Amino acid sequence: LHSKLPQVGTTIFSVMSALAQEHGAVNLGQGFPDFACDPALVNAVTQAMQAGHNQYPPMPGIPALREAVARKIEVLHGHAYDPAQEITITAGATQAILTAVLAVVRPGDEVIVLDPCYDSYAPNIVLAGGTVVRVPLVPGSFRPDFDAIARAIGPRTRLLMVNTPHNPSGTVWSAEDMQTLEELLAPTEVLLLSDEVYEHMVFDGADHQSVARFPGLAARSFVVSSFGKTFHVTGWKVGTVAAPAPLMAEFRKVHQFNVFTVNTPMQHGLAAYLQNPQPYLQLPAFYQAKRDLFRQGLSTTRLRLLPSTGTYFQCVDISAVTDRTEADFCMWLTREVGVAAIPLSAFYGDGFDQGIVRFCFAKQDATLHEAIRRLQRL
Ligand code: PMP
Ligand code: GLN
Repeated sequence: LHSKLPQVGTTIFSVMSALAQEHGAVNLGQGFPDFACDPALVNAVTQAMQAGHNQYPPMPGIPALREAVARKIEVLHGHAYDPAQEITITAGATQAILTAVLAVVRPGDEVIVLDPCYDSYAPNIVLAGGTVVRVPLVPGSFRPDFDAIARAIGPRTRLLMVNTPHNPSGTVWSAEDMQTLEELLAPTEVLLLSDEVYEHMVFDGADHQSVARFPGLAARSFVVSSFGKTFHVTGWKVGTVAAPAPLMAEFRKVHQFNVFTVNTPMQHGLAAYLQNPQPYLQLPAFYQAKRDLFRQGLSTTRLRLLPSTGTYFQCVDISAVTDRTEADFCMWLTREVGVAAIPLSAFYGDGFDQGIVRFCFAKQDATLHEAIRRLQRL
């Protein structure tokens, strides 16, 4: 068979979770919580099912949820999206990203991604017939290199994909970063896909700078988020995309033939649950406590801590501990030490190996303590 994605195998997240299960390892690889979501959210969905909300919802999502999302963005970021035309409910951020790429990228178009980046971006671009242009984040700091981004923009550039807070590095873009990007893109017609799935996980007083705050960016952007991350329900696969009406019209043309709609009872449950802002307003403190506990524990091991200002990921430098490649180290760590991690090389187009691996700290404190106990053997 002539593969459309010859370079693509099974994602590192599936591979490492399977290996963790096989070896009874503490799974700090794939990013998902090992604790329950708020029972009030489960009740809201259960009630929606019992009330008979079990048939197709409207194609872009139920109005109550689109309105709740638009209101939340307006309160947090001061940009009023029209819920009727500018918000769509998706089957997780993964589908939102693929659908946006398919909607705007034409064969021969170039799409800039910033390496390291989430592993679905490049295959999405290839499926749309586009060319992936990889611009590295600054080695060491994982900060955006705006000169390099500017140099990469050419007549064929259709889309730039950015992600803050950043998976895997935990870097958070500042307001100045966003302003610089706004100025850089101003003379161009380049579209922007802003992956903001970790929008509510920022630490040490950092503020998430949504592109919705920057009019020059919002006017050219798909802004993607995920309830899976925000409400500890990664298995529900419900996300959102916000975009100006002309962009959203194109998005919906693809969405209607891609998934058509997203499951109804969860949309009703989420719409009801979003009426209370506390669950997402409390998220930074909740995850900062976990980050601090985990960092404190890691500081007693031979792994060298890197900063983590956002997301639920903590990266460590393994070079003092091993000569293995990141990928070999993660396999070995899972099998022999009983802790699963993700090699950063999985987020680079060329498999760049700098001796850094990623742990997920969205775990019960007991899970984090057990992982630390095992990692102290290194
Ligand atoms: N983008 C990034 C940066 C992610 O980390 C994830 C989750 N792994 C996604 C998108 C996909 O989110 P979802 O689970 O809602 O599809
Ligand atoms: N986003 C999660 C991570 O980076 C995993 C999602 C997935 O398994 N595809 O670990």
